[in-house]
Amino acid sequence: MAGLACARVLHRQNIPFLLFEASHQPGGRVATTVVDGYRLDAGFQVLHTAYPEARHALHYPSLHLQKFFPGAQVYRQGEWHLIADPWRKPLSAPATLAARIGGVRDRLLLAQLVADVCLGMVESLFVRVDLTTRQRLEEFGFSADFINGFFRPFYGAVFLDPELGTSRRMFDFMFRMFAQGDVTIPAKGMSMIPLQLRLALPRHSLVFDTPVELIHPDQVKLADGRVVGARAVVAAMDGDQASTMLGLPPVRFRATTTLYFTTATPPLGRPIIALDGDGTGPVNHLAVPSLISGEYAPAGRHLVACNCVGQAALVPDGPIADSVMEQMTRWFGGQVADWKLLRIIRIRHALPAQPPGWLEPVDRPTKLASGVFIAGDYRSTSSIDGALRSGRLAAEAVLAWDGRGRLTRPRPER
Ligand SMILES: Cc1cc2nc3c(=O)[nH]c(=O)nc-3n(C[C@H](O)[C@H](O)[C@H](O)COP(=O)(O)OP(=O)(O)OC[C@H]3O[C@@H](n4cnc5c(N)ncnc54)[C@H](O)[C@@H]3O)c2cc1C
Repeated sequence: MAGLACARVLHRQNIPFLLFEASHQPGGRVATTVVDGYRLDAGFQVLHTAYPEARHALHYPSLHLQKFFPGAQVYRQGEWHLIADPWRKPLSAPATLAARIGGVRDRLLLAQLVADVCLGMVESLFVRVDLTTRQRLEEFGFSADFINGFFRPFYGAVFLDPELGTSRRMFDFMFRMFAQGDVTIPAKGMSMIPLQLRLALPRHSLVFDTPVELIHPDQVKLADGRVVGARAVVAAMDGDQASTMLGLPPVRFRATTTLYFTTATPPLGRPIIALDGDGTGPVNHLAVPSLISGEYAPAGRHLVACNCVGQAALVPDGPIADSVMEQMTRWFGGQVADWKLLRIIRIRHALPAQPPGWLEPVDRPTKLASGVFIAGDYRSTSSIDGALRSGRLAAEAVLAWDGRGRLTRPRPER
């Protein structure tokens, strides 16, 4: 996403470029595979319509974004509880008030928190005193019951961090995104997002199945031995590759594992996310993407995404499938016997961890050395929005760096 966003800006400025991509498709971690007519995103992920960068970089109407119900249903101590956004779902307010997670004070604090994070410019959220998300919520006055029963699984899903050790700046940013927009997926899968960016670029500028091996200020060496000269090089690979190739400090990643099941009967009654309010796992959050968009499953069938985070994401396939089935039977009863496991998708390096201090400043420098620039979610907020933003900033840095305001065509291969 960072590389595509960078290419988008360069292309709009008529700067010729070549984008070398190691894999056979654009999008990196934002990918969708079609298996037996089911669309499997590479781990459960969503697009927030309020993302400030995405709103500019993407054309939302052509993505046919499908919305989630604003809120979550939480399984706690043998019962389901609804926590809905009272402004957008006023009819659900009585159920939200009645939910046996936290108390009335927690509901009032939610309203105060919305006001707090929506105040001022987005950038102002990233200069606030930094804490962990858990400390932030405790300081704000939320009860331990509400933090553990609601925020822990909800932001465990967003940050893949059930300990809530992620920076409160990232929490404030994401809470604002939830408050100001919709949570969506494109009707035909998350891969439609990078595809849209790719289709706006000249075909001959994108070179797939071509890993880069070495980066220098005026050239890259490809894994197949070719050397390609350039006026500037932008390294828009993931944090892991960047630390190996460019000697940057290592990036710690958070992992997630998604078990995709198929079924005739959806386990949820609405297009909502379901959460593990007990914290016993292994599934932290569950969604039925086919209830959000019918294109995710063949007619008459449904796709269930059971998502594990933290230590649970690292349990091997056999044991995890068994314990997921056990937990799902507790949640949904006998219907789970009809679920068919379609695929287990493991993403060990899903999201760069963002502990307090990480977003200091929110955008890390995009220029590494004269003629070498860097982009990626690990340089900004770890999200689709952060990747897009860092790509745009890298392109702007390239444009600013070239004193003449324009770049020459990449030199022919040597
Ligand atoms: C399971 C999961 C759930 C997520 N949920 C959300 C969510 O709900 N909302 C959200 O906003 N974000 C979410 N994210 C995060 C988001 O997907 C990423 O932050 C973002 O896509 C990162 O983009 P990137 O361009 O920085 O990196 P990447 O997507 O990692 O792209 C790097 C690219 O560089 C290529 N590459 C690497 N090395 C080389 C090389 N040597 N030569 C050539 N090419 C190379 C890779 O093949 C890849 O295409 C999630 C991520 C995962 C995995």
